[in-house]
Amino acid sequence: MSVIVIEDNKCWLCGKIKPDLTKHHTLPKHLKPSHNVIVPLCEKCHSRVTAEDVVGMYAYAYKLEKSVMFLGEQVKGIKVAIENKFKIKLKNEKKEKVKQ
Ligand SMILES: [Zn+2]
Repeated sequence: MSVIVIEDNKCWLCGKIKPDLTKHHTLPKHLKPSHNVIVPLCEKCHSRVTAEDVVGMYAYAYKLEKSVMFLGEQVKGIKVAIENKFKIKLKNEKKEKVKQ
């Protein structure tokens, strides 16, 4: 991951100058971005931003769950298609045996 680190003694949310600022990833790490920007935030603002991230993570989990459900339906459909093809194969084999 390529990262740009913004060095500043000001919190990028509230603008206050503080000695111990947290380095915050602007794009959530759980999304595995190819590039990211790290900005300084004070502890109070970082807590606020992180709380917003929880909403984003929940939305991501919901989206992931929907994808898994969709994939589950796709797999069910494929299994039904395979079972039907197998039944046709058995039926054709029975017909061939009757002819012999
Ligand atoms: Zn702040």
